[in-house]
Amino acid sequence: KLIMQAALLSQAKEALKKYFGYDTFRPMQAEIVQSVLYQRDTLVLMPTGGGKSVCFQIPAMVMEGLCVVISPLIALMKDQVEGLKANGIPASFLNSTQNTQELAITENLAYRGEIKLLYVSPEKLMTPGFINFLKKLKISLFAIDEAHCVSTWGHDFRPEYTQLGALREYFPHIPIIALTATADKLTRKDIVQLLKLNEPEIFIASFDRPNLSLTVMPAQNRFGLIQRFLRNHPRQSGIIYCLSRKGTEDLAEKLQNEGFNAAFYHAGMTAEERNLTQEAFINDQTQIICATIAFGMGIDKSNVRWVIHYNLPKNLESYYQEIGRAGRDGLKSDTLLFYSYRDVLTLREMITSNQNPNTEVQLMKLERMQQFAEAQICRRKILLSYFNEDLLHNCNNCDVCRNPPAWFDGTVVAQKALSAVARTNEKVGMSMLIDILRGSARKEIIEKNYDQIKTYGAGKDISIADWQQYLLQLLQLGLIEVAYDEGNTLKLTEASKQVLFGNRKVNLVQMSVILQKNQEKKEE
Ligand code: ADP
Ligand code: ZN
Repeated sequence: KLIMQAALLSQAKEALKKYFGYDTFRPMQAEIVQSVLYQRDTLVLMPTGGGKSVCFQIPAMVMEGLCVVISPLIALMKDQVEGLKANGIPASFLNSTQNTQELAITENLAYRGEIKLLYVSPEKLMTPGFINFLKKLKISLFAIDEAHCVSTWGHDFRPEYTQLGALREYFPHIPIIALTATADKLTRKDIVQLLKLNEPEIFIASFDRPNLSLTVMPAQNRFGLIQRFLRNHPRQSGIIYCLSRKGTEDLAEKLQNEGFNAAFYHAGMTAEERNLTQEAFINDQTQIICATIAFGMGIDKSNVRWVIHYNLPKNLESYYQEIGRAGRDGLKSDTLLFYSYRDVLTLREMITSNQNPNTEVQLMKLERMQQFAEAQICRRKILLSYFNEDLLHNCNNCDVCRNPPAWFDGTVVAQKALSAVARTNEKVGMSMLIDILRGSARKEIIEKNYDQIKTYGAGKDISIADWQQYLLQLLQLGLIEVAYDEGNTLKLTEASKQVLFGNRKVNLVQMSVILQKNQEKKEE
């Protein structure tokens, strides 16, 4: 068996060269391909552009039978399949936009074993007729792309994805690989549970994009600041994300009036208009696109030099994904986020007026987005710790690092808080923790014997408001986590253990400094 597996791996390397022209796998790709070839269920968290597709396309070429790829991006399926065919990979797709004849042709190809990859939409896949059809075939692998869509914790929940859990029952012995560019812990947990992955191997690639500079500015006089920004980036391609369709049109017009080469893009345009706009941007005929979030999915343009958020994104996943459209070529690129409290209110209203099952989650995510914008610690640290990644040093490529506030050594403050989290067995939320630290004699504290723990009252000298700020900073530094699925209780992380054991220093910003900075921002 070992010899067989070794043979498969060398075939995989050959296939990478033959079909894609690459000499080597990226480090994590090799391990992922190996996991799939060994028939393990596999979960892959990798940022956009990291190279997820190869992780199932190569096994598909090496393994016997048909790999079924589930993707919600119907609009992109055709292009994806054509790209594969151009590389000599026999592939096809099935979705609701095709007529009966087209469907029949593809089903025939699959039946005769003439294709290796079949892209299908989740709703098509889960029809009883289609499952029965697949049962007659030799299936090598199920690849579930954009797997975060299964989770209401994710930023792009799709009800039709929840049915995919039944795949495991219909095909108990066929390995599943689930892939996503969303990496938060709760989404990850959901993917494993809801897709019923069987002891999956989990691969998490780094989400750091060090070539992207991160800047947040108050939204007052946005238009003036944008013009200045554009003059500092002459002839460089970029995207300005706006909240509303009308917003994109207005901004594009204002920019045109100032002599800039700008166009707008949103989902209210016809498919033809959108294609033309997109093409003009990709071919560098249009320099600036003012767009809603509808723009960017599946657009492969490596030399986008900057991304501006005219409005606050609704969560950090979206923000990360949208700034990630800049600098795919690895060269230095700039991102700028305009923050206004008005946007927070607008977004909050949009979320609560929606009849979604996950309103609470979305509000919580919006709050994290807002905290990011208001923060006075390295923005990259906050962003990466949100994705459960520990960045040890300040990045020196964000506005906070470039213009740092006065930090003080907050190691002891952090140790007091973390020790209280540990001694309450990670079962309390933020306000209870503060009460314990400040030695409150509240009934619940006495009942649960929290007044007996060593850190009870150890933080009396710090006000409630200051503690709230410090705990928020610890959260943003990845030194505590909030378990949103366990009543918002506070949890320790790997990094916080280093602090508790005295192996790591913590710098915090004093509350007064934060108040002052926010005041300055308001005045600007
Ligand atoms: P994702 O699906 O994670 O967004 P893709 O699979 O589209 O990423 O890959 C991003 C880019 O990286 C593509 O242009 C792809 O051809 C390229 N790529 C993938 N694997 C390798 C590799 N091993 N060596 C070089 N380039 C690679
Ligand atoms: Zn930084």
